Amino acid sequence: VFEGLAEKLQGALQKLKSKGKLTDKDVKDAMREVKLALLEADVNFKVVKDFIDKVKDRAVGHEVMESLTPGQQVIKIVHEELTALMGTTQSKLNFSPKAPTVIMLVGLQGAGKTTTGGKLGGYLKKMGKRPLLIAGDIYRPAAIKQLQVVGAQLDIPVFSMGDKVSPVHIAKAGIEHANKHGNDVVIIDTAGRLHIDENLMEELENIKKEVVPHEILLVVDAMTGQDAVNVAETFNHRLGIDGVILTKLDGDTRGGAALSVRAVAQKPIKFVGMGEKLSELEPFYPDRMASRILGMGDVLSLIEKAQASFDEKKARELEKKIRTQEFTFEDFLEQLQQMKKMGPLSQLLEMIPGANTKQLKNLEMNDKELIHIEAMIRSMTIEERRNPSIINGSRRKRIAQGSGMTVQKVNNLLKQFEQTKKMMKQFADMEKSMKKGGKMK
Ligand code: GDP
Ligand code: MG
Repeated sequence: VFEGLAEKLQGALQKLKSKGKLTDKDVKDAMREVKLALLEADVNFKVVKDFIDKVKDRAVGHEVMESLTPGQQVIKIVHEELTALMGTTQSKLNFSPKAPTVIMLVGLQGAGKTTTGGKLGGYLKKMGKRPLLIAGDIYRPAAIKQLQVVGAQLDIPVFSMGDKVSPVHIAKAGIEHANKHGNDVVIIDTAGRLHIDENLMEELENIKKEVVPHEILLVVDAMTGQDAVNVAETFNHRLGIDGVILTKLDGDTRGGAALSVRAVAQKPIKFVGMGEKLSELEPFYPDRMASRILGMGDVLSLIEKAQASFDEKKARELEKKIRTQEFTFEDFLEQLQQMKKMGPLSQLLEMIPGANTKQLKNLEMNDKELIHIEAMIRSMTIEERRNPSIINGSRRKRIAQGSGMTVQKVNNLLKQFEQTKKMMKQFADMEKSMKKGGKMK
């Protein structure tokens, strides 16, 4: 996310970090760079101005300048103000005490409403809810079919009445259906237009009047930058939205929308879409996003992502294998599959503290390396995977030929594997002794 912006901000702040003492001028110079970076990222002009004023106000003064680590203090202030800009704390969905909770998705055509409806359904299902998707877009050809396909993939029911009935009626009937079938959340997919127009707004107002949703969520495409912010303002003005879901944050968006929507439209970002896959929806945490932008990593999201993609039982089995040094190439292969489920490495590394943008760029190559590793493991026999010590010279040659790699590469893999195994054992033991000592919960 926000590659250009992150790189520039980190660059500007890095200069401060390396200085022992700071002058007012140092801070002002850095803030000028920060300002340019934000403007270039398409952040709303007024938002940028307010932001810079706030940071300067707090940063230029005795307390910061005379502290032991003035650079760190300024970075901390930037982090706090970025977090505040994006809404300070996570804004959760409102659930109605009386089922079903009604969520209505609105937005322009192509913003990602239908996809996001499915993603949100999947997210709620994982939370233990019983969602129902309602097909309220009767205009776009195949919109109903699209929602049905999404629903089928997630095993979530879809309520539809074809395209001859008014969306207001469909929404109402859908909620009745949910009542009868024990669905505690309904998600209404609605039609969009390429631009905001009167007919669309009236239709959405009518649905709102009739079903009184607990959440009206505006789905906006982050790639549209400033436009996304204008759309949010207009929809909020006409419809009174409760929050925003920002989609396509995985693309090469400049980040402006994520940083200004909250400040301009005064509505929180509740979720972000991070890819086309139905699992790629994340709750939006302002502080974690600020950390990612400033290169401080986002360990919490990483752990949550891992938990969501990893099978807990398998994870426990794995832990045991690591402790007893029974970890084999077969397990390794399985790990590779799990990692693939978590998404591209570059997205994951972004969440690791200290990973800089340059390292991220090198990662594309590493994704390729993973494919090579997988090819080599696949060229091993089951026996070899379980007991790598039998892999002698001739076996190495065969594996190299089978996977289209060099013997050198196979040698490296075997060496790395042994080292990794040892290291994992050390980690596991360390954690165990810490637990014993009562230092960790
Ligand atoms: P709608 O017209 O608002 O219902 O939009 P759709 O749900 O049909 O989505 C339009 C396109 O955007 C589809 O190709 C989706 O796969 C894509 N899309 C939606 N959300 C995301 C996202 O978070 N990331 C990416 N890369 N693509 C997305
Ligand atoms: Mg749609």
